[in-house]
Amino acid sequence: MKKIGIIDTCVDTPEELILAAGFIPYRLFGDPTITHEHADEHVPATHCVWSRNVLEQGLKGLDNDIVGMVSVHGCDCTNRQFDIWLDCVDLDFMHFLNCPLKRTKIAREFYIDDMKEFINHMENYFNIEITEEKIWENIRLTNKIRTILRDISEYRSKMVLKGSEFHKLIKDVMTQDRNEALEVLKNALEKLKSKEPFPNKHLKKVLVTGSLIDDTSFLEHMEESGYQIVVDDLCLGTHYFWTEIDESHEDPLQALADYHFNKPLYSTKIPSHSRYEFIEELSKKYQVDGVINIAQKFCETILYDHPYMNRQFKEKGMPYLFIEKEYNTEAYKQLKTRFEAFAEII
Ligand code: SF4
Repeated sequence: MKKIGIIDTCVDTPEELILAAGFIPYRLFGDPTITHEHADEHVPATHCVWSRNVLEQGLKGLDNDIVGMVSVHGCDCTNRQFDIWLDCVDLDFMHFLNCPLKRTKIAREFYIDDMKEFINHMENYFNIEITEEKIWENIRLTNKIRTILRDISEYRSKMVLKGSEFHKLIKDVMTQDRNEALEVLKNALEKLKSKEPFPNKHLKKVLVTGSLIDDTSFLEHMEESGYQIVVDDLCLGTHYFWTEIDESHEDPLQALADYHFNKPLYSTKIPSHSRYEFIEELSKKYQVDGVINIAQKFCETILYDHPYMNRQFKEKGMPYLFIEKEYNTEAYKQLKTRFEAFAEII
């Protein structure tokens, strides 16, 4: 099956439209083992490392199965880099989908119109028809995936499933045929039901939030310092499955818009305080020992949010660690001391 690549700083891509078009929605991930000298010819070195890394892969050439890409309005880095993709990356089908910054009634209408444009573009380019029936069929499929991911997610707080293992599972879903992904998830859930909790009882229970974290190896490094990620506020995490699409809605595009407008917010969207409120709610529910906020180097949106988060958590007496990280596996080791020190004080 052919794939449509996705660049999306949040998880605002209506994957169901891509599925209804007969393609696998294939999220493009960075690769922390590569350098990005080609991307650096186009983008200043002070732009987000993750977005430069993905651009580098586009410039070098993506997998042949990827027949197009959609970039969804997120932060300034990815928004503007779409122009570079258009000019310099060898792919014919490229679409920029505007998912608005605000969560207002007018913004919702705007988003629905933009989804219609996306449908028209795919229909005309690939000579296909995307019917309402196909969209509903795929909404039902992705809702099943969300439900099962929520169930699996709970095994993190039961100290049965590592946060990094769960992260890997979500990433697999985001690149697989979704029917196959559903079967994989069902099997994973069955196995978890009979698994014993970790023998180490002294792991610190943390909530992880921050930038687009797609390098599972980074979370593994973190865990080695004595943490269990019991819950998260990440796009490759709760934002992908926390809520569901209303299947009783009359119109599938309105149902999709409502879903995306009501799910947990990433820091590229406003109101920003709702991100903090979601984290606070989760940290109480899962009784975490601390919150770790991780920014990819030069991720402006997370850097802007940090002072507010810092003040709020200080007032509430919640231990809070802020980390700005490189996107490079070698550099992860340098953060070990900071992670160990935080684990000791919480
Ligand atoms: S990590 Fe931050 S700066 Fe980089 S693409 Fe995501 S939101 Fe944008």
